[in-house]
Amino acid sequence: MTTDLLQIELRKAERSRIQEVDFNNLPFGKHFSDHMFVADFVDGQWQNQQIVPFDNFTLSPALSSLHYGQAIFEGMKAFKNEAGEVLMFRPLDNVKRMNESAHRMCMATLPEDVFMGGLEALLRVDADWVPSTPGSSLYIRPYMFATDTYLGVAPSKTYRFCIFTCPVGQYYSNPPKLKVETDYIRSAPGGTGFAKCAGNYAGSLYPTLLAQQQGYDQLIWTDAVEHKYIEESGTMNIMFVIDGKLVTPALSDSILRGITRDTLIKIAKTMGIEVEERKVSIAEVVEGIGNGRLTEAFGAGTAVVVSPYSLIGFNGQDYMLPEHAPSDSIALKLKEQLDAIRTGKADDSFGWVY
Ligand code: PMP
Repeated sequence: MTTDLLQIELRKAERSRIQEVDFNNLPFGKHFSDHMFVADFVDGQWQNQQIVPFDNFTLSPALSSLHYGQAIFEGMKAFKNEAGEVLMFRPLDNVKRMNESAHRMCMATLPEDVFMGGLEALLRVDADWVPSTPGSSLYIRPYMFATDTYLGVAPSKTYRFCIFTCPVGQYYSNPPKLKVETDYIRSAPGGTGFAKCAGNYAGSLYPTLLAQQQGYDQLIWTDAVEHKYIEESGTMNIMFVIDGKLVTPALSDSILRGITRDTLIKIAKTMGIEVEERKVSIAEVVEGIGNGRLTEAFGAGTAVVVSPYSLIGFNGQDYMLPEHAPSDSIALKLKEQLDAIRTGKADDSFGWVY
């Protein structure tokens, strides 16, 4: 794709902050790169495309997104390959998903060239911020929010789109303990679960806190109607290995279409692993752990790629998942292959690397 950099005004930071950051110790989402890309949707058009120093916005107290929540975001990563080139992984899928979210939330959509032009230009300006140590990457946060100063409940006519980035390190954590949530829901049929809108995350915080107070790390969300079928886990899609097959809940309007989920499914198929996208009931999972047919359960998402679970709690009882050596785990084999593709170490036969 060609990028018309001329449309984007560049105002560089007077002084880079990169020396202040310890690239050997990068907590998630704490250090922000020098610049950000900003564009405003005004009079029906995306205008004022700029790359400016990362800094505060000045906002009206009446800003509609602060009241009624027209706010959406994406999460993606860039890597450096051995030649020092900056690689992005499936960014066009993020553009597509952002526009699906925008459509559901009645917001302006983003032409691919505004999103990708801004992203490419930003990564050129802040290329030094893309870490090259193994396991680390540049986390990219594109987001959009309504900017009308108006208190009527109605779709805003103006929006701001922004992209900023943060270098992030390897994600070390112990395999999490998951609790199956059967009271609260993340999303419902006809709701906004498939969209990456801010309110979905706000609503998930309280039930997650309750689970953490009970000694769990994260939740497994179930369907809103019967609380019988598994949907997602925390802010990840969920996958299981049952009878040696990769099994994951089929997509619906209450599940986010994860790019990692789609990627792992495609990689599994190339490895000859059978994949089933279908309804997965809690009963099947609990029984499968008991009789040994279910051997792995893990979350799939951009942040950690795969997160194997140690335990699933349901109705006051904890079900331990078996431990695996890396060579014996389908989740870790899929992760290894995905990591190799997105850092340019393995053949990119799907054309995912940008
Ligand atoms: N589900 C939810 C609710 C999420 O927030 C995310 C993270 N974006 C995912 C699934 C995983 O999506 P992806 O693989 O595109 O990061």
